[in-house]
Amino acid sequence: MAHALDRRTIVFCYLDVKEKILARGMQPMQENLSNSGFTMKDVPGAGKGLFATADCPRSTRLICERPIFISPEVIPIVPGEPTGPHGFPTRYSDGILMTMGDDLRAQFFALHNCKSNIPRDFKGTMDTNNLPVGVLPGYNARHGAVFSVMSRINHSCSPNASYRWDEDRFCGEIRAARPIAKGEELTITYTSVLDSRDERQGTLKAKYAFTCVCQACRIPTDQREHSDARRHTLATLQSHVQQHDAIFSAWTTDAALPDDYIVQCYLEYAKTMEEEALSEPMEWALISHALDRKWTR
Ligand SMILES: [Zn+2]
Repeated sequence: MAHALDRRTIVFCYLDVKEKILARGMQPMQENLSNSGFTMKDVPGAGKGLFATADCPRSTRLICERPIFISPEVIPIVPGEPTGPHGFPTRYSDGILMTMGDDLRAQFFALHNCKSNIPRDFKGTMDTNNLPVGVLPGYNARHGAVFSVMSRINHSCSPNASYRWDEDRFCGEIRAARPIAKGEELTITYTSVLDSRDERQGTLKAKYAFTCVCQACRIPTDQREHSDARRHTLATLQSHVQQHDAIFSAWTTDAALPDDYIVQCYLEYAKTMEEEALSEPMEWALISHALDRKWTR
């Protein structure tokens, strides 16, 4: 069940997944890339983190990294089989660790484990550091990837960087979601930033065992309701693309609406994102796409 895609990334998958991935004509990145624009430092209460060593404009590609290994997020377990911490089958963890070799294994166990204090806790370390890969060809289930560098990036509910999985190059990529100043810590999100503060705190506590103290979570109590409402508005925009059609339809059918109605609607969305210090590329793509369209009636 387990085999190596190449020397750098261990892919734990069903046998025909590898063949289907390769059949796509992918061109795996052979070397990890970075602009050397960051350094790793201890962060009190949060293990280690990455910090910018130079000013980075928006969209700067900060890191391109091949994962240590990839696996399905949920592993089927045969009742009665030997398991390690958190009920993970030892025949899988032993096989993966052996395939990693000394170098990757050392990188893996150097990562933080928020799930236990058990030495060499494979499942705990994996779940603490997994970043999403999505569904791989040939096995319709979500997969996660553990990275030696990227997995150390800490969380913020108003992150300054964004992560994405590049299946063609079989690597993860971190880009500046907004301009990042020299000395600023790089942050990504571990949860949906459009959830309410309480929902975010609940998810982070349950999955990663920490209380978020980012700027968005530290706002005064009397402002939280407004922040939650703004994020809910943005969630509506993201999850209901038909909202765009509703705005367009209103503008084309109601002559009383001003000519710049659509522009004003999206500028309002953009303003809401800025008020929440959010820079999700998907949101900005929706807004810029809407503003780029040629509106006539
Ligand atoms: Zn937060």
